[in-house]
Amino acid sequence: MSEKMLKFVKIGQQTPPKRSVENRSEDFKEIYGEYISEKAKEQSSRCSQCGVPFCQVHCPLQNNIPDWLKLTAEGRLKDAYELSQSTNNMPEVCGRICPQDRLCEGNCVIEQSGHGTVTIGSVEKYITDTAWEKGWVKPIKLKKEKSQSVGIIGAGPAGLACAEELRKIGFKVTIYDRYDRPGGLLIYGIPNFKLEKFVVERRTKLLKDSGIKFVQNFEVGRDSSLEDLRKKHNAILIATGVYKARNIEIFGNQLKNIFPAMDFLTASNKKGLGDKVQLFENGTLNAENKNIVVIGGGDTAMDCVRTAVRQKAKSVKCLYRRDRENMPGSAREVGNAIEEGVEFLWLSSPSKFLGENQVEAVEVQKMKLGNPDASGRRKPTLIENSNYKIDSDMVIKALGFDPENIPKLFNSENLAVSKWGTIKIDLKSMQTNIPGVFAAGDIVRGASLVVWAIRDGRDAAVQIEKYLNSNLSKKEFAA
Ligand SMILES: Cc1cc2nc3c(=O)[nH]c(=O)nc-3n(C[C@H](O)[C@H](O)[C@H](O)COP(=O)(O)OP(=O)(O)OC[C@H]3O[C@@H](n4cnc5c(N)ncnc54)[C@H](O)[C@@H]3O)c2cc1C
Ligand code: SF4
Repeated sequence: MSEKMLKFVKIGQQTPPKRSVENRSEDFKEIYGEYISEKAKEQSSRCSQCGVPFCQVHCPLQNNIPDWLKLTAEGRLKDAYELSQSTNNMPEVCGRICPQDRLCEGNCVIEQSGHGTVTIGSVEKYITDTAWEKGWVKPIKLKKEKSQSVGIIGAGPAGLACAEELRKIGFKVTIYDRYDRPGGLLIYGIPNFKLEKFVVERRTKLLKDSGIKFVQNFEVGRDSSLEDLRKKHNAILIATGVYKARNIEIFGNQLKNIFPAMDFLTASNKKGLGDKVQLFENGTLNAENKNIVVIGGGDTAMDCVRTAVRQKAKSVKCLYRRDRENMPGSAREVGNAIEEGVEFLWLSSPSKFLGENQVEAVEVQKMKLGNPDASGRRKPTLIENSNYKIDSDMVIKALGFDPENIPKLFNSENLAVSKWGTIKIDLKSMQTNIPGVFAAGDIVRGASLVVWAIRDGRDAAVQIEKYLNSNLSKKEFAA
């Protein structure tokens, strides 16, 4: 065992500096700073180098965390980077936005012994940001390109990870996406204060420089059918994510100024990228000087409340029908929102939207938690006669997402989907019921996490390679 490790008893946990609330509420920049080199070494040296590393077991990518922490503690940063990127296509993205408290860090043994977890996410971010800075991150240079090509529908993390892995092996890869920029929810969903856009843009540029073709503003279903694309490529991956916003059917739903979360977040992200956004410019999707009510308790709701704070809302309230302990969003993000002045109304559910033409108030009903439901979480039930009213000029609904009707959208009614509308795949081959068509990411799992989308994209690449190397694919393509 290196004498540089196991320092958790002597060295306390320290995260990178966090900007003050006053300072960070003024802009959309990320709120956590970077470690200085000595601090990264010191914090990495706290790792206890467990024989069975539970952090690694609970990382969806099974990142070799103890080893890259050890290399960092020893000052061997380039080796740490090589190891870290061998299992993850975007370590600096995961380091920033994984809910580490539920994944790697939540399972750190020294956390369990009361010493405070190793700050795995921050070290991962530090290693890869340094690699970018030092020029160690390089585009793929192929010795020989293969003749077979793969078409990927969707330039989110699942599609991008799959594309990179397939390109490394030498396949021609084209990514089709209906947005004007690649990145999926990394670019138009997740706000800058969690993930600045240059981080995503330098990744997609790297893939372009690696010879992967991007076709933007291309919507499968409108600009081509799935069948036509299938004829053009030797294999297809569907990685289209989930975008149908869940609704709440209550009185007053038709009033103006009630929006789905993605309308609000996309407008804000586009504005941040320097685009002209008419609905923001004319005030419709701008929270400035308004009483904002956000409904929901997940990551999307946290992103909406914190965006509204930065747009200088008059007040920001978050309604959630369960209590704080049962919120699905990352505990770290809930804490950040509270610090930034968001008022949480836990155990509260909207019962009516009130107003003449546009929303002016929300009627709220108090809830209590009953017995656990099928998901294992305690079911909220209404408390009779507990209604009260809160002022609101704008309501944002962040109630989760369902898949769009992909078979219909793609003019491909034979594509099999589950009862929830997610695409059905064979879990081993990741193939749909259409030969040579694979699927990965949120469109298979339902709304999930970036790190799982990367994992699925990587797994799909392995299966697509197997398929393309088999005789079956040659026969099917020729048919
Ligand atoms: C607001 C918000 C905040 C989030 N915060 C976090 C977080 O902090 N941490 C975390 O781990 N996860 C977070 N998530 C979840 C995470 O972003 C997703 O799980 C992840 O992006 C899924 O990746 P994907 O590649 O499957 O799909 P997506 O990222 O959704 O990408 C799908 C792509 O497919 C394209 N597409 C769709 N239909 C078509 C079509 N017909 N033709 C062509 N292209 C099409 C879309 O334009 C899009 O670019 C958040 C999600 C949201 C909405
Ligand atoms: S990818 Fe996510 S879960 Fe895995 S080590 Fe990095 S931050 Fe932790």
